[in-house]
Amino acid sequence: MNNPQFSINNRYAEMRAAARIRERALFVSPRVPSELELQARWFAGDFGRAFVSTNGDKIDIVQFGTWNREAGPDFSDAAISINGSDPIRGSIEIDLLDRSWESHGHAANPAFEETVLHVFIEKSDREFFTRTKSNREIPQVQVDPTALPDAFSANLPLARPGRCQAPLKNLPEERVCSILDAAAKFRLQRKAARLRREIDNHGRDEVLFQEIAAALGYKENKLPFTLLAQRLPLKFLREHSPDAEALLFGVAGFLQAPDLDIYSKSTRKYVRNLWDRWWPHRDGLQRLILPAKAWRLSGSRPANHPQRRIAALAALAVNWPPFMRSLNKGDQNGLTNFLLGLEHSFWNFHFTLTAEPSPKEMALVGESRVADILANVVYPFEFSSGRDVWSEFSKLPARLSNRRLATGATRLFGDDPRCAQFLKTVTHQQGLLQIYEDFCLQDNSDCAQCPFPEQMQKWK
Ligand code: SF4
Repeated sequence: MNNPQFSINNRYAEMRAAARIRERALFVSPRVPSELELQARWFAGDFGRAFVSTNGDKIDIVQFGTWNREAGPDFSDAAISINGSDPIRGSIEIDLLDRSWESHGHAANPAFEETVLHVFIEKSDREFFTRTKSNREIPQVQVDPTALPDAFSANLPLARPGRCQAPLKNLPEERVCSILDAAAKFRLQRKAARLRREIDNHGRDEVLFQEIAAALGYKENKLPFTLLAQRLPLKFLREHSPDAEALLFGVAGFLQAPDLDIYSKSTRKYVRNLWDRWWPHRDGLQRLILPAKAWRLSGSRPANHPQRRIAALAALAVNWPPFMRSLNKGDQNGLTNFLLGLEHSFWNFHFTLTAEPSPKEMALVGESRVADILANVVYPFEFSSGRDVWSEFSKLPARLSNRRLATGATRLFGDDPRCAQFLKTVTHQQGLLQIYEDFCLQDNSDCAQCPFPEQMQKWK
């Protein structure tokens, strides 16, 4: 006998199954998921975390890592286990095709050297092995998007909240702040110890100059700026004060082309003067000139272009004595005003040597960079000299954020509405970074064995 209720349910199930077949067909062809969607769903765990590699090994994802916003594989700080091995840390690359590894140039790119897993949807007809530049073979995992759950949120998280999130939410604000303070103090002490070692080797002024140079380089050009300040020490620049700017531009490698025609009329006179001053030094300093590849010239805001920052570094070298007088008086306002007041007739109106002049005047060093120099150079430097700066330092408002900080905040605080409040000061931001580096980046167990949540509970 026909049960009408049963047949309705059955029909609904059949209808749903048919709809799912259609949905799947739509997903694979013609709508192949974009690489970004594929990556997002991988990261969300939609494909699971246990796989069998193309050569039959059992691959477990121990840690999905974090989105990599820089050059290199899609996810960094990940960890996998092969056939139950101890976790192997590294990066994970995800492509639509296995051969994209080759066609995208990853095989020859040293930034992909630390890759531990290559994930893809489609396998080529011919066998393809994923290899790094040093010829190390990387395990391959093929995933099947047709097996995915249907729902997909386009809201891509930067990182996944960690196990800390729940206990942290229940901790009173004072306790969280006290943990962040303690981590920030630890970070400050470590930095001061490093500075003291460097001061023993190179002297106070030189180390301070190098640290400010590094801060002017931002994250992208920290290395070339440090090299510049090491290769052209403050003492040398001050002995050649009229040529200091030309020396810095020359050793930076920005005065390589003697052809002035490439510059606009308004720039030619300025570059000509740099050239005339650089020319007598060039042969003697030839070996110190940085290669063009040392610089990262794209990706930063035009006002932060390294050429503008080199001009600021030159202005600082030339005006070093008043800068040090403010520092020695412990006069933070004086230091701030000094840095904000640095001026340059060319660079106040130009983004780069080759750009057209800007109609609007801009600061040589802006407020957020000055705040960064105070927080990351001046206060640690003063602390290393034995001054008790904590009460001033801990009041500095945070002005900048970065990817690492945002990742750490997601890992620890998740969607805790108090997160922004916790990270309002420089010291709390630095405390969070310290915890992230000490715990999250050391963790190989996707939080399971990380001791931080339990330690936090006991925090008094
Ligand atoms: S690794 Fe540790 S500190 Fe980081 S989110 Fe997980 S439990 Fe928290």
